[in-house]
Amino acid sequence: MDFKDLTRKERSEALTALAEKPFREKQIFKWICAGAGSFAEMTDLPAALREKLAERYSFGRGKVELRQTSADGTSKFLISFPDGEKAETVFMSYEYGNSLCVSTQVGCNMGCAFCASGIGGKVRDLKAWEILEQYLLCTEHTGQPINHIVLMGMGEPFDNYAQMSEFLQQIHDPAGIGLSYRNITVSSCGLIPKIEQFGRDFPQVNLAISLHASDQNTREKLMPVARTYKLDELIPVCGKHAETTGRRVSFEYALIADKNDSDTDAKKLAALLRGLNCHVNLIPLNTVTESGLKSSGRERALVFQKKLLDLGIQCTVRRQLGADIDAACGQLRKNNS
Ligand code: SAH
Repeated sequence: MDFKDLTRKERSEALTALAEKPFREKQIFKWICAGAGSFAEMTDLPAALREKLAERYSFGRGKVELRQTSADGTSKFLISFPDGEKAETVFMSYEYGNSLCVSTQVGCNMGCAFCASGIGGKVRDLKAWEILEQYLLCTEHTGQPINHIVLMGMGEPFDNYAQMSEFLQQIHDPAGIGLSYRNITVSSCGLIPKIEQFGRDFPQVNLAISLHASDQNTREKLMPVARTYKLDELIPVCGKHAETTGRRVSFEYALIADKNDSDTDAKKLAALLRGLNCHVNLIPLNTVTESGLKSSGRERALVFQKKLLDLGIQCTVRRQLGADIDAACGQLRKNNS
């Protein structure tokens, strides 16, 4: 077993079982966050302990298999883990800082019609350390600081809640990286019970919800998960989340030609979100050939945005970064498997 597969609590327990003092866990955690590749490198641990650990546990690291760099500074990484499975991570540079989009699963079971990650379903959940590893490798390879992390890569974070939660705690711990919870955003397709739990567990972490439709019927066609977690329940839960956490909820809305981009859709969307402390991110759809769906295009996106703004809904059209590389979720892995 890999030592890093254990949660930090389990690591402490494993060390206690070896008659070690509790502070050893923190020492090892610091080494992990510093990018150590073996127990042997952990020079402030007694040699006997390093040997004992190496006898009992493996200590794997991820590897950058491929890096595509776009003219706009976006870098997309394909990262492999010790079992050979791969995930995608995207580094983006904005005026206000650098942002990293990490994956939480290899593949995804949510089956959204427009998304490349869902093709082929979920292969496996990523462990907390494998999510952290994406951050470590990307800082190493870009040589740049990362100010914001979004859990918006491959996978549904709330379908891997325990490891996602362990990751959030690890990256936040000042003993290692110490990233503020306010600089992290988790994006979900809308698993209601987990949204509620997340609000209780991580009230400072930003929540983004993939909405993509303003009525139940359209949403079901685009997102099978909508059959279980219906819009008329989801929106009030988001409203309550915004109220109890005091934080604005983001809604993602990919504009798909002739599916969800009419003036009527904009009006319905505005009515749906009225009074909710939120922001809408309009995303020009990244074309995924298999889906047969087409992007509305930037012009239509700007018209849709104006309509929403006129109706009092805060919204922006997301800048399309990395358009010249395999930018859509799951595309890089799919094209290199
Ligand atoms: N499962 C989570 C997070 C991963 S997807 C979620 O659903 O939110 C991250 C975002 O990218 C989601 O809003 C998703 O709907 C969107 N997305 C997926 N495929 C896309 C595509 N081809 N074009 C534009 N956005 C896409």
